[in-house]
Amino acid sequence: MSELDKEKNTNTSQKATVYKWKRNKRSLIDILLFCALWLVIAGWIVFIVMMLVNKDNYAPNVLIGIIFGVSAAFLCAVIGLGIVMKIIQDKEKHKILESHIEKTDEEWHEDELLKVRNLRTSFFTENGEVRAVNGISFNLNKGKVLGIVGESGSGKSVTAYSIMQILSPPGEVVGGSVKFKNEELVGVSEKRMQKIRGNNISIIFQDPMTSLNPVFTIGNQIQEAILLHTNRTRKQAKARAIELLQLVGINEPEKRLKQYPFELSGGMRQRIGIAMALACEPDILIADEPTTALDVTIQAQILELMQKLQKELGMAIIMITHDLGVIAQMCDEVIVMYAGKICEQGTAEEIFYNPKHEYTKGLLASIPYGSKAEGKLSSIEGTPVDLLALPKGCAFAPRCNNCLKICLEEMPERLVINDDHMATCWMNVLEGLKDGSVVLMEEKENG
Ligand code: SF4
Repeated sequence: MSELDKEKNTNTSQKATVYKWKRNKRSLIDILLFCALWLVIAGWIVFIVMMLVNKDNYAPNVLIGIIFGVSAAFLCAVIGLGIVMKIIQDKEKHKILESHIEKTDEEWHEDELLKVRNLRTSFFTENGEVRAVNGISFNLNKGKVLGIVGESGSGKSVTAYSIMQILSPPGEVVGGSVKFKNEELVGVSEKRMQKIRGNNISIIFQDPMTSLNPVFTIGNQIQEAILLHTNRTRKQAKARAIELLQLVGINEPEKRLKQYPFELSGGMRQRIGIAMALACEPDILIADEPTTALDVTIQAQILELMQKLQKELGMAIIMITHDLGVIAQMCDEVIVMYAGKICEQGTAEEIFYNPKHEYTKGLLASIPYGSKAEGKLSSIEGTPVDLLALPKGCAFAPRCNNCLKICLEEMPERLVINDDHMATCWMNVLEGLKDGSVVLMEEKENG
């Protein structure tokens, strides 16, 4: 392990301790609030009972009154303390995150929208720190479609939530940098993020039923986003909502605005989700498995719709999926993730026709197409690695058919295959050594 890695690990474990302490402090406040609330409720009950029992004797009533008054004061004090602690915690969190932003002096180019550098996100569970995203870096340019592919638990969705800053505890961004139009988003205030979310970066969630609020009409939900981020009046927001519903192919838009989510089909709900995400014409649309919960014919319609809108509006898309077919249909560039890391990255053409990681090869081999559709489907043996116990070397080693001795011992470094392609697999180093494209450090030093 290099000195840099050791330092990173020390930082992360220190941070883990800080977050654990903060979580314990938070739960202590919750317990105090809970106790105080029950104390007041019990005080009230005893007070009422005593008043009924001792109608003619005021002394016990006064005593109970005092108990009740003290408990109410205690509750107010605890609530006040909770609010102050929350403010202090938010400030502390902001400071910690700011100190973990990895400042880069990379130049910002005109066509760049998003730059993610060494992003790390962990979940601090009772069993330990789960490193769901473990140091990933990528760029997204204007008007491009970037696909993030991998199995469940590979860190795709957590990457999206980290960019949007919508992780809930125990998940936390613990380091790295996410720059949108050269503005750092890691550690930015919630107030600023609320302006960016929906307005500049939008997200479509996997399940349209859970992403829409069941107690508000479709009209309310779309118009809310428009009113929040633009200067439009209510009337103008309604007109825009109708326009958006037409854009995503919903018939009778005026009628739909008055309906609730449960009155619509799954496909329609997902179209509504897309309409909401597009309400303010964002620069980046993150689609987190937008077609997984839909049947195949609706899936095709939604993908076509997204392609059409992307071309019409010129926005950039991050398409998160485990479906390589979706990636092939839509994406310019592809990131393959495994165990919270990027194992291969390149243009769609390079990934599909020149895969250089054993995991990507396994994923491609498991696509049912052509004559293979009639035979037995191939699969990647084994199960995804336990993120609480990551192996020393390559995380894919236990499932890899071509695992080398070094794969068990050392983490493969990223190797540049060509200008459009990078992969982290020892096989490439081995092949490179054979054909002379990779030179060992010692050999280089010895000339
Ligand atoms: S580094 Fe080794 S174990 Fe990992 S994918 Fe490549 S060959 Fe397989």
